[in-house]
Amino acid sequence: MKDLERLIKNCMEELEAAGLKPGQIRAWRVNERALSRWGQCRRNADGTYNIEIAKRLLTDPRITDEACKETILHEILHTCPGCMKHTGQWKQYAELLNARYGYHIKRVTKGEEKGVENYEVKSRPVKYIFTCEVCGAVIRRKRESKFTRNYRQYRCGRCGGRFQRATVTIR
Ligand SMILES: [Zn+2]
Ligand SMILES: [Zn+2]
Repeated sequence: MKDLERLIKNCMEELEAAGLKPGQIRAWRVNERALSRWGQCRRNADGTYNIEIAKRLLTDPRITDEACKETILHEILHTCPGCMKHTGQWKQYAELLNARYGYHIKRVTKGEEKGVENYEVKSRPVKYIFTCEVCGAVIRRKRESKFTRNYRQYRCGRCGGRFQRATVTIR
């Protein structure tokens, strides 16, 4: 497990050496569940910021300290004035850090660029397909329901035809 506090301290020193002044960060949080994003920065009502870092960045041994710092810096840059978006000032600062320290701070960084696979949301496959015998309308269902059990009793909403069950090939 990487030492988040030490990495943050490193980043702050690098920002200072580059002449950048981050906003006030009230809290750092490690997000245990974030899988599809590495970090997040939110502005609080009082003008301070909360930053979240995905736990995976800290625990995955394939992700280097540098790659982890790129995310930390990405989020800290959002606290600089006029930097909530990834354009304009934020982009300029990111490019400045990239040129000065050899980072690859970008708007979005894929898993592969951090040395790990991308996380993909596994969606449930369609298990039931019915087609209207008359007009060919198709109904797809991922789980069993009243309709999938009793489709013979239902009529097509478009033409009033009956449904037949189609064979589903799961790939
Ligand atoms: Zn961002
Ligand atoms: Zn029909």
